[in-house]
Amino acid sequence: MKRLDMKKLLLIGALAISGHVVMAQQHRCGTDEHLETLIKQNPSIKEAKDKFEADYRQFQATYKPEDYKTTQQLGKKAAPKYIIPVVVHVFHNNGSENISEAQVMSEINYLNKSFRNAVSDTINRRAGWFKTSPESTDSFYYDYKNLAADSEIEFRLAKKDPQGNCTNGIVRIHTPLTSKGNDDLKRMSVWDTKRYFNIWVVRQINRGNTIGIAGYAQFPFGFGGGASTDGIMVIHNEFGNVGTSQPGQTPNVTTSTHEAGHWLGLYHPFQISTDSCGLDGDGVMDTPPTYFNPSSTEPLRNRCNNKSFNTCSTEKPDRPDLQEAYMDYFIGNCASNMFTLEQKARMHKVLDEIRRTLWQEENLRFTGVIDGPATCPPVAAFNTQSGITCEDGTISYLNFSYGGTISTYEWTFEGGTPATFTGATPPVIKYATAGKYDVTLKVTGPNGTSTTVLNDYVTVQPKVSQLPKSTYFADWWYQNNWQEQGWKFVYENPKNQFVRFPVSYENNASMRLTRDPFNINSSIGSLFSLVSPSFNLTDMTNPYFEFYYAFAQATLPANVGGGNTQEELKVFTSTDCGKSWQTRATIGSGAISTIGTGSAAVLASGIDFMPSDQSKWKLVRINGNAVPKTENVLFKIEFKYSGGNNFYIDNVRIGLSTGLSQDLLAEKIKFSAQPNPFNQSTQLSYELSSKENVLVKVYDITGKEMGVLFEGVQDAGMQKLELDRNTMNLRSGFYFIELSINGNRLSHKIVVE
Ligand SMILES: [Zn+2]
Repeated sequence: MKRLDMKKLLLIGALAISGHVVMAQQHRCGTDEHLETLIKQNPSIKEAKDKFEADYRQFQATYKPEDYKTTQQLGKKAAPKYIIPVVVHVFHNNGSENISEAQVMSEINYLNKSFRNAVSDTINRRAGWFKTSPESTDSFYYDYKNLAADSEIEFRLAKKDPQGNCTNGIVRIHTPLTSKGNDDLKRMSVWDTKRYFNIWVVRQINRGNTIGIAGYAQFPFGFGGGASTDGIMVIHNEFGNVGTSQPGQTPNVTTSTHEAGHWLGLYHPFQISTDSCGLDGDGVMDTPPTYFNPSSTEPLRNRCNNKSFNTCSTEKPDRPDLQEAYMDYFIGNCASNMFTLEQKARMHKVLDEIRRTLWQEENLRFTGVIDGPATCPPVAAFNTQSGITCEDGTISYLNFSYGGTISTYEWTFEGGTPATFTGATPPVIKYATAGKYDVTLKVTGPNGTSTTVLNDYVTVQPKVSQLPKSTYFADWWYQNNWQEQGWKFVYENPKNQFVRFPVSYENNASMRLTRDPFNINSSIGSLFSLVSPSFNLTDMTNPYFEFYYAFAQATLPANVGGGNTQEELKVFTSTDCGKSWQTRATIGSGAISTIGTGSAAVLASGIDFMPSDQSKWKLVRINGNAVPKTENVLFKIEFKYSGGNNFYIDNVRIGLSTGLSQDLLAEKIKFSAQPNPFNQSTQLSYELSSKENVLVKVYDITGKEMGVLFEGVQDAGMQKLELDRNTMNLRSGFYFIELSINGNRLSHKIVVE
């Protein structure tokens, strides 16, 4: 079918999300959108793909189905022609998506059964006479039973990792991003894709804004292996047929087979035809293209209850849709159970030309897959919610070691109490002294011992709270020294980071999180946070925390999934060194844009959002009971990315609503203006305890800046400045002197007579 039809098919999928169409949404495959995304990133992939197709058409001229038939019966297979080493990366957040080894094995077994034509549901393969349309009197005999191929491809879990260490071919990674599976996540754990077929198993796939994807693959074109995203990603409850993926629940043990087919160069049957009803929907001649009619009330003819007909027959006689094929894609619960002979030929061509390194004998030795059974020691693995605490604070550890039976666990907590522990679940560890500390876990099982050391894994911060004085002004990035102030950005996955950017609410820079329309660096739903140092707000009257931000929502490119509105901005406080956080403000998708509401909130893709003036910024402030009046108060701003445009943050302040602390600050620095009121001039004096950056400005009562009296560095000691009314054209009235010493601001009223 034409590309257009395919796109509309995807559109129907999108409608289902909003409830207009009911269908088996969880069976969607994201491979086509992935290819479009890759081509947008790198147009040479399309050239490589076109070249492969041109070569393949030449090959088809001499293709003979007989060359791909095998005579072996079920259970008496010849040795496979291609053995492919596999690594399965299980991303988990300690939930049910941390699937068992048995579940992984069940999928590998099914892959081999399906690729070697050894599945048991072949009864659904049809042979017989079919009419070409409901109205037609013509009938044709088709035999899909004899088209089924033993692909002679076998998948084996690796027994050696890329470093030559013993492995059972299963890697487990603890990360909350398992609910946001995409290319970004793949890069967190990938083995050399020229040597291993990488399979990533996740809780949920969240490429762009497209939800409900069961799996997606990367086609072989343009890479020849070697790309860090090359492989397939599948959700855990469609991986294997035991554990979380059981028949009757989400019945698709075939999802990985389908995706592996893509990975070996096979398309959906409606994929590449340039002829609206040609027979080459997938470039393979023995599979008929499937038809899609977007205006029909039963839009997808490629479905079980219509499987005998193909509307393409209005142009030329066509065979019934081959819904038996693993690469087919239809609504309903029909069984997929075969690759065709020519699909086999095409996969062999990919293996011979593009994925050749995988199955060479040298690589089979490198990956250990022709060795005997792997008997590896268990893998020591652990994590913690946050590796940060303050003096006398505690940290809890989560043990998720894996790899068979583990008889002993031996923990060492440098700087902690207790300093050692033996057992699977360590107690809460207390840290008394500021510093950075290692954590070590040694695990022992019947096949040996392994040790994991995380150097400087724990950061214990000194228990010193800053006093915010009058206004603590954290707009330090305009001076580019923000790293020194004890504030830090925290990223769920640090590939996309806030950077200093020369657009601001005031002064000359803000911090910007740059948009990432292709989700190369940011998973949809990723959290980006700014965490303050610890403040002592004891006895403060009405402290507040505020900042400005600027943001536009965005229409994602269609291939990433279309519209998008899931961003969220939150403000938290913590009084236990960041161990727990209390939500103090939430700005959801309907209100988050600073450029408008409804459609005005959303910029088209391709337009780079920059706030052109102060009206494009919004203030967020928490105060009153939302701000704890205790020691050790931390503030956190958290932005949930959802594929929108650039996000800016500026003018972060912690302040006090009354003049109390202004008085304290004035007293501390012995500030005075003499005389005040004054007629012609007044002398400002103040004492610095150390060399400081000082800025002195004069404002009128409306907040209009009248002039800068001083800007620069002053030494410790008593300082004096003369203010003459004529130099700033001050008429009679009230004015404010704003004295800013290294970010701390003091406002003092003066009166010109
Ligand atoms: Zn697919």
